[in-house]
Amino acid sequence: MFRSFPRRSLPFARSLATHAAPINSSRPVTRHDWKKEEIQKIYDTPLLDLVFRAASVHRQYQDPNKIQLCTLMNIKTGGCSEDCSYCSQSSRYSTPTKASRLLDIEPVLEAARKAKANGSTRFCMGAAWRDLAGRKRGFERILEMVREVRGMGMEVCTTLGMLSPEQARQLKEAGLTAYNHNLDTSREFYPQVITTRSYDERLDTISAVRDAGISVCSGGILGLGESDSDRVGLIHEVANMPEHPESFPVNALVPIPGTPLEKNDPVPVHVLIRTIATARIAMPTTIIRLAAGSPWDEDKAMMGRWGLEGMRSFEQVGVAKKEGERLEQGAHNEAAEPVAATATL
Ligand code: SF4
Repeated sequence: MFRSFPRRSLPFARSLATHAAPINSSRPVTRHDWKKEEIQKIYDTPLLDLVFRAASVHRQYQDPNKIQLCTLMNIKTGGCSEDCSYCSQSSRYSTPTKASRLLDIEPVLEAARKAKANGSTRFCMGAAWRDLAGRKRGFERILEMVREVRGMGMEVCTTLGMLSPEQARQLKEAGLTAYNHNLDTSREFYPQVITTRSYDERLDTISAVRDAGISVCSGGILGLGESDSDRVGLIHEVANMPEHPESFPVNALVPIPGTPLEKNDPVPVHVLIRTIATARIAMPTTIIRLAAGSPWDEDKAMMGRWGLEGMRSFEQVGVAKKEGERLEQGAHNEAAEPVAATATL
């Protein structure tokens, strides 16, 4: 379940996430004024106490037997000008990943149909580049992909590097559900991982996405050489955003030969557990996504063994709220169609 993938190095990867239950007014409100010391104290709690507390919070805010299956596809691989030291797709390192052009629309739609048939209710499209500058035609193609995948009744996510407020607005208009833009690690440790863009530039894109009414998916990678304090710093940063991210993906580094982090040690499992549990407590309504890259059959078998159920599209309360009228319209259209497929509401 925790088999993670080198960021954007596989054509497909599926992630698993918990499911948010409907809002219950008796729950405490979520906090946005965390002090770093408070989060550090949670992180340092004896492990079994921490797990118990996180599981208790989880049950208050989430349906513990539901997870979301999400498929990630690279729509443009390799040749990236950025220097993220963990990434096989940076053109600065000699890795086995070969650069390719932006894919045509149809193969992407075919992959989305297959993902939906295999139970994924969110489809994420990732492009390896710094931003969309000078990519007008490519962006139009991506907007069309977003419209088409959304038309299948799936949640649509993209990860396309830095965005301007206008690009975020266009993505929202095309039907984008969520935008992935990871902070990766703490503000302090970030310059040791990436030098071609700043932490504040990351935060600017996240603000543009949030302001456009798109759900934010922003998390980190463990095993970059960061300390406990950096993991706490990452959670502190996202937990104090004006809105908690709708999703907090937790990746574990798979060291890629040829990258500066090729010799990093695997992240210990107790570090993964502490990070996930602390994020759960600090951001109780957020979906914690485990970027795993499991084959579909393995996911299905595991869910069967564990009695887990896949969630439907737009079942997460915050996501449904942001979808607003579009979702109501979709439900109306489905009701009007005599051969409507599975309802997404
Ligand atoms: S921006 Fe960084 S993580 Fe993304 S593809 Fe480029 S090098 Fe890799």
